Amino acid sequence: MVHFKAMAESEAGARRGILMVVSSPSGAGKTTLAHLLAQTERLEFSVSYTTRAPRAGERDGVDYKFVTEDEFSRMIDRGEFAEWAVVHGNRYGTAVHTVNRALEDGKDYLFDIDWQGGKQIRAQWPDESVLVFILPPSMAELERRLRRRATDSPEAIERRLVMAKRELEHFAEYDYLVVNDNLETALKELSSIYVGARCTRARRGHYGLALLHEAGFGDDGSLLIQGRSPARFGSVPGPTPVSITITTVKPLLFRFSRISFASSSE
Ligand code: ADP
Ligand code: 5GP
Repeated sequence: MVHFKAMAESEAGARRGILMVVSSPSGAGKTTLAHLLAQTERLEFSVSYTTRAPRAGERDGVDYKFVTEDEFSRMIDRGEFAEWAVVHGNRYGTAVHTVNRALEDGKDYLFDIDWQGGKQIRAQWPDESVLVFILPPSMAELERRLRRRATDSPEAIERRLVMAKRELEHFAEYDYLVVNDNLETALKELSSIYVGARCTRARRGHYGLALLHEAGFGDDGSLLIQGRSPARFGSVPGPTPVSITITTVKPLLFRFSRISFASSSE
């Protein structure tokens, strides 16, 4: 028997933020999409730490927090990363305090991180994480985008192309796949995934519970209907329905499997 109270304890607690992870092979457009999503939806972009050099136009504290190898090592020693990984020869990491803010303050965060980071986030926070993999429309287009971006040296572009093929293998570890052909369509799909994640029963159950409380259910699942005694209205004396107990709770469907009737003591 699933009890109302047990359900209340699991679902009515403080809202924990969504950890929305977006990964892709380099050049597929996840950074473009991640920033657009953070501008259009109520979730914040998690600014990672990295040891890589800033690209032209990148701002410290906005795109990344750029740190030295020594600083990064010290942060690892102090346990300041929720996850970190070596990507294309540089180290990247997510601060543990960002994840804590999501979990404690109920703030939703967007993580533009690689598959190694996605795996670590999923392993630690399976219930809070939503993993989305961005796919390019074709490998030829991926190469064109990497070359057109022209923010890396020719050697770095070649390295990213080789790595992109390896990164693609990991799409199967993700919950959702978005093909970034038309940017607007891809953004719409990404937004829909985020909005959908906010509306799951696990996240919205507390609204349902609040309504049940308002409707008069007690924590033990019983509904006390303060029925007026039929006798008082001159009708045939008989039992007044006073107690309904929910014994099975299914998603979107309450099955009232026992409805008991008892005489009113009024
Ligand atoms: P990633 O973060 O996955 O490495 P970026 O977001 O930096 O990729 O995008 C790579 C390049 O492709 C950028 O120059 C970006 O402007 C461009 N781009 C992103 N999405 C699209 C799209 N749907 N169509 C065409 N170009 C795109
Ligand atoms: P770029 O150098 O192109 O900005 O990023 C290279 C790769 O590192 C991308 O796949 C990006 O998603 C990933 N990355 C960025 N920040 C982090 C992070 O904090 N952790 C992990 N694991 N990967 C990251």
